Amino acid sequence: MDDVVKGPLSPTAGGTAALRPVGVDGATITGGFWAERLAANAAVSIPQGWDQLHRAGNVGNLERAAGGGTGEAVGDVFADSDVYKWLEAVAWEIARTGDEALLERQRELTRLVAAAQAEDGYLDSVVQLRGIARYSELGWTHELYCAGHLVQAAVAQRRGTGDTALLDVAVRLADHLVATFGPDGSHELDGHPEIETALVELYRETGTRAYLDLAGWFVDARGRGTVAAYGRDSTYFSDRVPVREATTVEGHAVRAVYLAEGAADVAIETGEDELLAAVARQFAAMVGTKQYVTGGLGARWEGEAFGDPYELPSDRAYAESCAAIGGLQWAHRMLVATGDERYADQVERMLLNGMLPGVSLAGGEFFYVNALQVRNGAEPDDQRNPVNGRLGWFSTACCPPNIMRTLSSLGAYVATTGVDGDSLQVHQYVQGTVRGAGLVLDVETDFPRDGRVLVTVRSAPEGEAELGLRVPGWASGATLDGEPVEPGLARRRRLWSAGDRLELVLPTAPRLIAADDRIDGIRDSVAIAAGPLVFAVEQVDLPVGAQVDDLHLDVDAPLRLGGSDAALAAPVVLASGWVHRHVERPEPYAALGGGEDDGVEREPVPIRAVPYFAWANRGADAMRVWIPAG
Ligand SMILES: [Zn+2]
Repeated sequence: MDDVVKGPLSPTAGGTAALRPVGVDGATITGGFWAERLAANAAVSIPQGWDQLHRAGNVGNLERAAGGGTGEAVGDVFADSDVYKWLEAVAWEIARTGDEALLERQRELTRLVAAAQAEDGYLDSVVQLRGIARYSELGWTHELYCAGHLVQAAVAQRRGTGDTALLDVAVRLADHLVATFGPDGSHELDGHPEIETALVELYRETGTRAYLDLAGWFVDARGRGTVAAYGRDSTYFSDRVPVREATTVEGHAVRAVYLAEGAADVAIETGEDELLAAVARQFAAMVGTKQYVTGGLGARWEGEAFGDPYELPSDRAYAESCAAIGGLQWAHRMLVATGDERYADQVERMLLNGMLPGVSLAGGEFFYVNALQVRNGAEPDDQRNPVNGRLGWFSTACCPPNIMRTLSSLGAYVATTGVDGDSLQVHQYVQGTVRGAGLVLDVETDFPRDGRVLVTVRSAPEGEAELGLRVPGWASGATLDGEPVEPGLARRRRLWSAGDRLELVLPTAPRLIAADDRIDGIRDSVAIAAGPLVFAVEQVDLPVGAQVDDLHLDVDAPLRLGGSDAALAAPVVLASGWVHRHVERPEPYAALGGGEDDGVEREPVPIRAVPYFAWANRGADAMRVWIPAG
């Protein structure tokens, strides 16, 4: 369709979105903080993805399926999805840089995917190789989950590069799904949501209403306890309560947020206020009771699941990188649906503190799990445990290519225009050029390392236009051209001319964050933040003999920015605290008020905290975000 936005989210004019994303062309990132992260993604992560997908066997599965082969497929049942996520990353990367070599790889892999597709449109190399009856074990085979990632990659390829080869595959597959599932077809549901958001985007790309209808049917068919697999109950599959009735998020975190973002997409296109209100209610409950201060989602290793309200352990936090990505995609859709900037605050939080820790600064190593505390002497009981440090790949490799596609499409999260076309909203601050509503803006900033954002109008429309700049919820004391501005969207409507300038100053002085008392493991603890960044203290930054496990923070001592760590290219915060010197006991308990030495001696220590996203780049060692307040 002609008016499709060149980005992963392109609501139709017939829907009820309050805002319209500007897509990846709407923000060109040329320098500063994010340019460094995007450069590492392009130079290291994406090439490594190509190598790993070949080495791990994902590409080999497709090759054998394309040759009509049978036999044991390699890897997880959802092995194809990692290839598709990589293809999506590549499409946005080509849109960003025009990389010809990458375009060749895209085309090579696309030809392979097309060759693996069955005559009737079905495609899942693992099921094809293993000879399992199609959709007969849909609770665990992830056939529709993989289809969803294929569709997203295909839409990205069409919008980002102009190639339609993968879209042809996706349309054939989607047509096959429309013919197979729905009210008059199979009522089976995939154990892992993802197809819902993808089908809505395919509707937006092609105009084929049946894709939106099927997405809506999948959303509403869920929550009736029909999915069975792994011996898990329906909570795990987001299948216990219908989406329209759910009041919070529960179960497997990635499943839950992917389903919710799909439901938000359906609501945007159908205008069902009740459905949008339901997912807004769930989002609020998630942020209010089930989200880590880092934006991390999923408190339990068991079932990779959301816990009960306020069940947010730091040391055993799961907080999968993919869950933060699903969370920020959901937040982005809620922002576009409602225009409420608090959702943009959540995109920022989950990007910087939820997803970005999932990849090393150099781009070659990844975290699956993002704990907020690692103890000295912790044992690497699982490949995913951050005690191991980041790894080059995982046997279940969902997170690395998910991070790649998010970074390569980052520009699409930066700005929107109003649906009337005469307003531009800048939600995320990047160094570069932002375009929309006839305005072209040059943005100079090193955000989030610095809170100053200088916006210069390069060209402007003839008539009046409104320019809105997000003032984050954390930015109390923010000013626009020297005038105080409240959190939300600071709007300026007028005639603009080239050379007009706006200066937004977001205070990034370090501050302490306290947690709700109901989060027991961190009661009476504080976290350090500066601007949107949450900080962590690593063992390597403490004096010899002082253990991060024993650390307390003196809340009365000043906090100050300590310049930039050269190795991390990230700001550090300096604080003061003390550590215990322990008296050895036969057990870690003692009678209260027993009149004896309380077993500890306080030794003052300087505290040097680094942004949480940058931890474990100087070796992986003990670390903590929450520090008991002394
Ligand atoms: Zn993952």
